[in-house]
Amino acid sequence: MKTIKRILISAAASLAFMGVAAQDAMPRPAAVDAPMELSDSLELHTALLNEGFIIPSDELYPTWENSGVHYTAKLPDSLRIDLRRYAMPTTNTKITDVFGYRPRRRRAHHGLDIKVQRGDTIRAAFDGKVRITAYQRRGYGHYVVIRHSNGLETVYAHLQRKLVTQDQNVKAGDPIGLGGNSGRSTGPHLHFETVLMGKALNPALFFDFPNQRATCEYYTYYKPGTRRYDAKSGRMIVEGPEPKYHKVRKGETVSTIARKHGVSQRTIFKLNGINSRTILRIGQSLRYQ
Ligand SMILES: [Zn+2]
Repeated sequence: MKTIKRILISAAASLAFMGVAAQDAMPRPAAVDAPMELSDSLELHTALLNEGFIIPSDELYPTWENSGVHYTAKLPDSLRIDLRRYAMPTTNTKITDVFGYRPRRRRAHHGLDIKVQRGDTIRAAFDGKVRITAYQRRGYGHYVVIRHSNGLETVYAHLQRKLVTQDQNVKAGDPIGLGGNSGRSTGPHLHFETVLMGKALNPALFFDFPNQRATCEYYTYYKPGTRRYDAKSGRMIVEGPEPKYHKVRKGETVSTIARKHGVSQRTIFKLNGINSRTILRIGQSLRYQ
């Protein structure tokens, strides 16, 4: 009820500000405290989102800023993410690099790379509002970040061109850019990220590019360390720990790094696909958890 009230108040204010006769579209002010049909409130919410009066997922995100793709936020213990109204960002199906830490790269990869041709249309994955459009010569190249009503943010990088502007509202499937090779990229591809409150999650959890579909209707995110009941096994389980990385400094060895983080050398060898003969480079990232 509190949310609905807030929406009504902000909507009324927006409409009044725009000089629209508020009573045409909205209940009279006295109705603010009256109970409202759920379907009405959902419809109203969607309408207001589409008109750009409210920010998608404002119950999760305290602010709306046009900077900072990744940041640290307190994630909820769990969140049910609605994937039902999705669109594939590209019709291409070939994955050229997966999410996560790759020993070959010696750093974390926050997204999924999909092969595209220069000029291919790239589309918004869900309804939402464009949070960032920017250019990073040594990184993302031309890129777009969209915040969606389902709580996720998506990032589309190495574009040849951006077709949207900051603060623009988009629908799932709307063209938002053209595929390309801008920024740190060695051939035309789409670097696609799915980010929850600043934290990159594996896009393969949500999208099956080879088969061109969403993985499920609802995906439930659980914060690592969360104890929960697993219906499949019928047992309480603890979500796996979050991967953690150590940047190698001068003079460090696997042995000193292992000691520093209280893990075994074997763990570090296994997580990074290396062995005791591997020579570490200064500045390289080693996963230790
Ligand atoms: Zn990438």
